[in-house]
Amino acid sequence: MRAGVVTPGSKDTARVIEMVEPRAQQDEVLVKVLEVGIDGTDLEISQGRYGEAPTGEEFLVLGHEALGQVEAGGGELRQGDLVVPMVRRPGGCINCRSGQYDMCLDGDYRECGIKGAHGFLREYLAEEPRFLVRVPESVRHIAVLTEPMSIATKGVMQALEFHRRGVNPVERALVLGTGSLGLLATALLRFQGLTTYALARQPKSSLKGQLVEAIGATYLDAHTSPIPDIPRELGNLDLVIEATGNSTIAFQAMDAVGVNGVLCLMGVSAGEKRLEICADCINMSMVLGNKVVFGTVSSNRSHFEIALSSLAEIEQKWPHWLGRLVTGRLTLDDLDEALNSARDRIKTVIQMS
Ligand code: BGC
Ligand code: ZN
Repeated sequence: MRAGVVTPGSKDTARVIEMVEPRAQQDEVLVKVLEVGIDGTDLEISQGRYGEAPTGEEFLVLGHEALGQVEAGGGELRQGDLVVPMVRRPGGCINCRSGQYDMCLDGDYRECGIKGAHGFLREYLAEEPRFLVRVPESVRHIAVLTEPMSIATKGVMQALEFHRRGVNPVERALVLGTGSLGLLATALLRFQGLTTYALARQPKSSLKGQLVEAIGATYLDAHTSPIPDIPRELGNLDLVIEATGNSTIAFQAMDAVGVNGVLCLMGVSAGEKRLEICADCINMSMVLGNKVVFGTVSSNRSHFEIALSSLAEIEQKWPHWLGRLVTGRLTLDDLDEALNSARDRIKTVIQMS
């Protein structure tokens, strides 16, 4: 079978190779991969800045956002079932053993397509049913968005949990970045009825701007709305979601998030950027403002399941909106183009069959 791989740690090594088709072991099911989404993490990996091959191997199969179909059933899964594979494979810590591998304590987990385990950008997978989430037929057309939606879901849910400390309602939210993660978070917040702003660098007339406004959120152009000015213009920001992965923006957001506000950091920044900041100012405003800043990574089965329900609800409330996030559909032969163009697009999907 064919697979899209990279050599982790080296730049521009993405290529398509032939691999032996996996055989399902007794406790596994065979899954035919239908679609794979590309995200910023894949770009970081293909630039050699992130990612790790499985032990003893020199390449890593890319892809951690996938939709597949069961070829030969097992457990609760039957032939023909649509499934989304989860990304993390647990280590041995107490959280991993309890199914909360997104909250791993010691880093002894693997992530398919990212860290120490092959990803889903290949024709077939053999997988244990406990790592597969069944997808209703009704959301098939948008189910490739389940994994990024599970990440957005975990972040938004936890941010709202922190808000339970106070009685003041969560009213105003700001999302920084309008890649697929930022847009999915914007949709979740709008669905909750929050007044939501989404900020990015493209003009308001861009597709990203149009998508933000189509669900009743307000698009802010970063050139005319610098982050430090936003609270003065819009009022207290109860919730800020950082979805650009730009660490400078993360620190600006610590200042911008409002009194009793919560800042959720979702973007991986695989670099060593240094920054001069007013540490006193940030510390002071966090303390006097009862602010919470937290990071969030990965997601567990519960987030995948909630993500699937949210996709269905959002599709019903704003028909066809989610489909518009998929800005390109390519094949494995276009792997280079898929990786190179992903920066400006929203979600590039590789159609496997
Ligand atoms: C993936 C997560 C993963 C994270 C860090 C993200 O792109 O969606 O599943 O935990 O990268 O590796
Ligand atoms: Zn663990």
